[in-house]
Amino acid sequence: MNNRAAESPDGIKIGIMGGTFDPIHYGHLLAADEAHAAFGLSEVIFIPSGHPPHKANKKLTSPEDRYLMTELATVDCPYFSVSRVEIDRQGSSYTIDTLRALRAMPKYAGAQFYFITGLDAVLDIVSWKNPEEIMTMCRFVAVSRYGYSPKKMEELPEELRTKIIPLEIPLLAISSTELRERARNGRSIRFMVPPAVEKFIRKKSLYRNNTEE
Ligand code: NAP
Repeated sequence: MNNRAAESPDGIKIGIMGGTFDPIHYGHLLAADEAHAAFGLSEVIFIPSGHPPHKANKKLTSPEDRYLMTELATVDCPYFSVSRVEIDRQGSSYTIDTLRALRAMPKYAGAQFYFITGLDAVLDIVSWKNPEEIMTMCRFVAVSRYGYSPKKMEELPEELRTKIIPLEIPLLAISSTELRERARNGRSIRFMVPPAVEKFIRKKSLYRNNTEE
C-alpha cells in the first residue's frame, strides 16, 4: 500500500474501490470522488483485482500493468491510494478475503469500510463468495452506471438488497470495454482516461491485439 493517504485512527470511514480496472478511466475516478464526498470518507483505496473469479476465461491485461495504470490515474489525489492486496495474493480474488485482509491491518483497526462498485457488478452479487458476510463487514455502495436503472436492484434477494446503498453520480458513458475496443481500433481515448494512463496504454501497445470481445 502506498503512503499517500493519512493513517487511519479508530472510527474513520474508508472507501474501497474494487475493480478489474482494465483500464481505469474517469468514470471510476468520478465514482470514487463522489463517494468520498457523499460519505465523508478519509481515504479511498483502489484495489485492482488480481485474478477476478468471474473473468477466469477472459484475456486480461497483466495484474502489474493494471496496478500501474491505477497508480498513474490516482497519484494526483491526496485521498486516493492503491493497494496491492489482491495483486499479490495467489488464487482467485474474492472480495470477502480482501475485506478480511484489510480488517486485520492495524492501520484500519476500527475503521468503517465502504465497498464501492458499479451497479451492474452489484447485480451479480448473489454469485459472489459469502455475500451475506460481505454485507456485515462493510457498507456496500452501488454507483449508478450509464444504461443501468437502479430499479434493477429490485431483482436482488431482499436480505442483500436492503443492505446496498445506491449512489447516484453524474453518468459518464465510459466503460473499460469501450476503451479496449477504441484502443484496439486505434481510436482516441483522450479525455476518457487520465493523460498518463493514455500514454501508458500507447507505449505498451495494450489492447492492440485484443480479440476477447
Ligand atoms: P466488472 O464485472 O468488470 O464490472 C461490472 C461493471 O461495473 C462494469 O460496468 C464496470 O465498469 C463497473 N465497475 C467495476 N468496478 C467499478 C467501480 N469501482 N466503480 C464504478 N463502476 C465499476 O466488475 P469488476 O471490475 O471485475 O469487479 C468489481 C468488483 O467486484 C471487484 O472488486 C471484484 O473483485 C468484485 N467481485 C467480487 C467477486 C467475488 O468476490 N466472488 C465476484 C465478482 C466481482 P468498467 O468495465 O468500466 O470498469
